[in-house]
Amino acid sequence: MINFEYARARDVSDAVRQVAANPTAKFIAGGTNIVDLMKANVERPSLLIDVTRLPLTRVNGAGGALRVGALVPNSDLAYHPEVQQRYPLVASAVLAGASQQLRNMASTGGNLVQRTRCAYFYDVATPCNKRAPGTGCSAINGLNRMHAILGTSDACIATHPSDMAVALLALDAKVHVTGPSGDRVIPIAEFHRLPGDTPQQDTNLQHGELITAIELPPEEFSKNYSYLKVRDRLSYAFALVSVAAALDLDGDRIHVARLAVGGVAHKPWRDTAVEDSLRGQRADRAVFTRAADLLLRDAKGFGHNTFKIGLAHRAIVRTLTQAANATPQSQSNKKIQ
Ligand code: SF4
Repeated sequence: MINFEYARARDVSDAVRQVAANPTAKFIAGGTNIVDLMKANVERPSLLIDVTRLPLTRVNGAGGALRVGALVPNSDLAYHPEVQQRYPLVASAVLAGASQQLRNMASTGGNLVQRTRCAYFYDVATPCNKRAPGTGCSAINGLNRMHAILGTSDACIATHPSDMAVALLALDAKVHVTGPSGDRVIPIAEFHRLPGDTPQQDTNLQHGELITAIELPPEEFSKNYSYLKVRDRLSYAFALVSVAAALDLDGDRIHVARLAVGGVAHKPWRDTAVEDSLRGQRADRAVFTRAADLLLRDAKGFGHNTFKIGLAHRAIVRTLTQAANATPQSQSNKKIQ
């Protein structure tokens, strides 16, 4: 771990100004990822700007949407009455992630910018294009059981680790940020990136831009939804595959479908062509099977992770079935129904 300077931001403008002025400065909030990365010498900031005292801790409604401050702890988000009632898909996804202790510390904004858990990324003795661009990818021909099957590149096959982001993608959330050039709003679908030739860039945030809030849109999908996470142990493990499904049903017909998949790509994965294909169809196993076929049509395994293609297919069908039946996956009794 290297020496670094630490300062507490007075306000959002001060935080942005201090990080923007120093190319190796970083924000720190809950610290549940960046501290681990600093201990492993993966992140080496010269300056940490602590944003934890900024007034970004409120959850409030506006025009049918719900605005969640970026510093709302994951636990508070998951147990907030309005989130539980209106956006149970988000509450469920957040509770599927990490452990209670980590959720108490991790912030909503930080959840979106956590970095991959690829073991090679954390091991500075191995080549890794994400950590050290141009050195190669150790995972492509290495141990890649946890790695991506969609949207990969020759440079990187890492997955994004967030559960919450998968639910936010299914719901079309928006990310509010403030940066050196002012405020902007990024649709969640444009927030994370595929690896391409620049796997070192996880998101489309510019240096110095601070997430201030997440906006959940008026469409809630509070009845027919489910978040299913398949992992090696039942808690405190990252997804092999996770699925967020939300349906608006008209009798047994699908009026609107939302489907996002985690653990399979460098960013939470959503394919609107699949959702379009579900519109007007009967909500049954045959239709859901065709949707899974379509979503995974370009999936590619790298050896150890090839099993994920079949696993993702089964998980998609199961989660859509849970959503259609209004029997969402429980996050306290994790037995898959
Ligand atoms: Fe690095 Fe990405 Fe390859 Fe992992 S998959 S070793 S993060 S380049």
